Amino acid sequence: MTELKNDAATAAGQPYNYQRRTLEEPDWTRFPGWRDVTAKQWESAQWQRVNCVKNVRQLRALMGDLLDERFYDDLETDMKRLATMSMLVPPQMLNTMVPDKTPDTESFYADPIRRYMIPVATDRHLDWPSHPHATRDSLHEHDMWVAEGLTHRYPTKVLAELLSTCPQYCGHCTRMDLVGNSTPTVDKLKLTLKPVDRYDAHLAYLKSHPGVRDVVVSGGDVANVPWKQLEAYLMGLLSVPTVRDIRLATKALAGLPQHWLQGDVVEGLNRVAITAERRGVNLAVHTHVNHVNSLTPLVARAARMLLEVGVRDVRNQGVLMRGVNATTADLLDLCFGLQGEAGILPYYFYMCDMIPNAEHWRVPVWYAQQLQHDMMGYLPGYATPRIVCDVPFVGKRWVHMLTEYDREHGISYWTKNYRTSIEATDDEALSKLYAYYDPIDTLPESGQQWWRKQQVAE
Ligand code: SF4
Repeated sequence: MTELKNDAATAAGQPYNYQRRTLEEPDWTRFPGWRDVTAKQWESAQWQRVNCVKNVRQLRALMGDLLDERFYDDLETDMKRLATMSMLVPPQMLNTMVPDKTPDTESFYADPIRRYMIPVATDRHLDWPSHPHATRDSLHEHDMWVAEGLTHRYPTKVLAELLSTCPQYCGHCTRMDLVGNSTPTVDKLKLTLKPVDRYDAHLAYLKSHPGVRDVVVSGGDVANVPWKQLEAYLMGLLSVPTVRDIRLATKALAGLPQHWLQGDVVEGLNRVAITAERRGVNLAVHTHVNHVNSLTPLVARAARMLLEVGVRDVRNQGVLMRGVNATTADLLDLCFGLQGEAGILPYYFYMCDMIPNAEHWRVPVWYAQQLQHDMMGYLPGYATPRIVCDVPFVGKRWVHMLTEYDREHGISYWTKNYRTSIEATDDEALSKLYAYYDPIDTLPESGQQWWRKQQVAE
C-alpha cells in the first residue's frame, strides 16, 4: 500500500527544480525475451500487437529469471481475486518499466507504470480494497446511453464508445464495466449491435439533436477500430453541420505509438484533418499518459505526426494515482515532458474513479487540491493542467469547486449547473448536493471507525 507522500525537493531553494530532460527510448534488449529484437521489429505496430504480454506465462518467458516466484504468485492472486481488467501490455509499455537498468524483483515492484499496468495483490489495500460506494459503472455512463455506446451526460457533448477493446488494458480503467475481457471478478457488459448499426445509431442521434456540438470518439481505444471503419465514422460526423468539435481518445499514442505511425493511418488521418479544416471543425487527439517514463522518442514522433497531418491539438488526460504519479514532482516532470519534449498539451488529471478494488490508487480530495496548488506557477498558464474530480451524476469539477467537505468521514459535496439526459424531469437536479468519497484509509481513525460501523450495520 502506498502512503500519501509529497516530498518537496529543496535544492536551489525551490520546492521543484526544473531541468530539461530529453527523451530516450529504453533499450529493450535488456529483457531476456527481446534480446534479438531489431529496431525494425520494434517499430512495427503488428510486431508490437503480436508480442503483447497477456498472462503470467508470457511474462515469465520475457523476463527469464529476473523476477522471483513471489512476484508471479502475487500477480496470479491478483488476477484470480481482485483484478477488474485482464492483462494486456504492449512491449512499448513494458519497456518503459524500470527503463534505465535490467529489472529485478524489487525495482519491478516499485515501478510506477508496472503499478497500474500489471497490478499485483499486495499493491491493493487489505482492509479497504473497495470503497463501500464503489460501483462498476461509477460514472453511470451506461445509464445515460441514448444509443448503444453513446453517452449523453453534458448538454452539448456526447461520448461515443465505438468498441470495447484497447491495445492495452490499464488496471484502473474507469470503464471496467465494459472494456476488455471478463475477469474472474468482473463479467463485462457486451456491445450487441453490429459496429455499422451502432455507428448509424450515433449519427442518427446527432442529426436529430443539433444542440450536441462536441463528440468524444472513444472506446475502448480508437486505435483498435480498423482504420477504414474509423475514417468512415469520422467522415460521418463531419457531415453533420452541428458537430463542431471532435476529439479522438487513444492511450495507444503512448502505449502503442507504432499504430499512429503506420502509413495507412497517417494518410487516412490527413484526409480527415483536411475535411475537418475545410468545415471549420476542431479535430483533436486526447491521450492518456500517467508518468514521464512513458514518454519516449517514438511517442513524441507519433504525436508530432498527428500535428503534421493537421490534427489541431494533442492533449493529455492523465489519471492521478497513488504510487504512480501523485506527487508534485511526478506531475510536473510529466507535464514538462509532455509540453517541452513530446508536443502534447498537459490538459487534465482526473482523480481515479470509485471503481471496485481501486482504493490503493485513489487520493482524497484535499490532497488533490494540495497538488493543484503546488503545481501552479511552473508551467505556462495554458499548459498547467487542471486536476478534476468526476463526481457521479455531476461530471467533471475542478477539485476546488466543492460546496461542503466533511473531512472526518471523507465526504465532499458538489453541485451542478446542467441536467444529464436522465434528469429531464428531476426538479431538484440543480439544487441538490452530490457526494464523492475519499479513500477510507486516508481518514482520521474516528472516520475509519465510523465506516467500519456502517459496514457492520448493513
Ligand atoms: S486505454 Fe483507457 S479505456 Fe483502455 S483500458 Fe486504459 S483506461 Fe481503459
